[in-house]
Amino acid sequence: MDQITTTTAEWQALDREHHLHPFTDPKVLGEQGVRVFTQADGCYIWDSDGNKILDTMAGLWCVNVGYGRQELVDAASKQMATLPYYNTFFSSSTPTQIRLARRLSELTPAGLDYFFFANSGSEANDTIIRLVRHFWEVQGQPSKNVFIGRTLGYHGSTLAATSLGGMAPMHAMGQSLLPGFEHIIEPHWYRHGQGKTPEEFGLEAARALETKILELGAENVAAFVGEPLQGAGGVIDPPSTYWPEIQRICKKYDVLLVADEVICGFGRTGNWFGSDTYGIEPDLMPMAKGLSSGYLPIAAVAMNKRVSDAINGGGVISHGYTYSGHPVSCAVALANIDIIEREGLIDKVREETAPYFRDSLQQLADSHPIVGELRGVSLIAGLQLVRDKASREFFAPTEQPAIECREHCIGENLILRAVGHTMVACPPLTIGRSEIDEMIEKTKIGLDKTA
Ligand code: PLP
Repeated sequence: MDQITTTTAEWQALDREHHLHPFTDPKVLGEQGVRVFTQADGCYIWDSDGNKILDTMAGLWCVNVGYGRQELVDAASKQMATLPYYNTFFSSSTPTQIRLARRLSELTPAGLDYFFFANSGSEANDTIIRLVRHFWEVQGQPSKNVFIGRTLGYHGSTLAATSLGGMAPMHAMGQSLLPGFEHIIEPHWYRHGQGKTPEEFGLEAARALETKILELGAENVAAFVGEPLQGAGGVIDPPSTYWPEIQRICKKYDVLLVADEVICGFGRTGNWFGSDTYGIEPDLMPMAKGLSSGYLPIAAVAMNKRVSDAINGGGVISHGYTYSGHPVSCAVALANIDIIEREGLIDKVREETAPYFRDSLQQLADSHPIVGELRGVSLIAGLQLVRDKASREFFAPTEQPAIECREHCIGENLILRAVGHTMVACPPLTIGRSEIDEMIEKTKIGLDKTA
């Protein structure tokens, strides 16, 4: 296959013949043909027909510093030339890995100073499941092995991460809900909190954790795992009362608290981590995506001293990946963190970009008849589509207004994501005002055509 031709139709034919896609209905894909993206710069990507498209999803919630960063290319190239690979098994390490662990310890919330590397958010969460169970074994409490997650939580798509997440279609495929994983309600006030203030509902949703712990017996519960703000579940930002109450309950029952920072980390919520934004003090924290801005696969699990001390005293760690702490990925992650720091991206997001982004979206949400509410925080936003704004009547589960809207937006050369009945935007942290204006204008067209 030397001569791969480059027309879209030919790409599509080849793709159809050889390529199975994640989170895609092959039947629909077969009818429509795959969309092929060929290059990118800043907040824009280009497809194989030459269309310039505004990517307000930062790829898959990950290209935080934007596309086209030569500095990251150079960091990868230099590391490849110096030491393209060595593993970190059997008492080995590499300089970039050590430097990255050190650097992360300066950025993560106080007390999270010890790191294990993986290649994806899913692997990071699998790692957490294994390490946390090991932790309790070392503590002499092996019965503490059940994990509590949330409905519509997303923690990845390996078997264990699927079980930890609360996505019903994923559980259904391939009998993927393992024993030892339980779920409580997601803190989605707009959907579940009718008649209550967000604060009342936040407490109620958090107390579902206490009820679940008591039902299972605290002696059987290993950890509670939650995204500070649920991303792939539809941008569900919890009421202000939620996390403090979760924190209190975890402490009371000696249940470890895991904040999944795979989306929220590296500036997305206006601070380095979502835990900073929501005042969470996790025992462990998986991170990926924004760690390298998606330029290369890398993930890390941060843990506090209580966890690392126990694990370090617990004998051989029978866990790890060939590419744990891959030197090239670590070099890119370090260069990516340099960019975020040097350009002051997080302060800029908090002080300038996010206020404009949110005000613009709020005006659209307030004025548009099929938008019930704007959710999210800082540079992650969800527009909840509803049949009736005044009565908060939702669309039926079988209806697909968000998918319809997404397709209209694509027609306008704008990428937004459709999650359930929510339109999601999660742009690069570098997005500018004119690009936000373009996003709003095109989103409005998509919404108008859907209404
Ligand atoms: N955790 C969260 C919060 C995520 O959003 C994701 C992916 O979207 C994952 C874990 C899984 O990450 P990956 O797709 O890199 O395995």
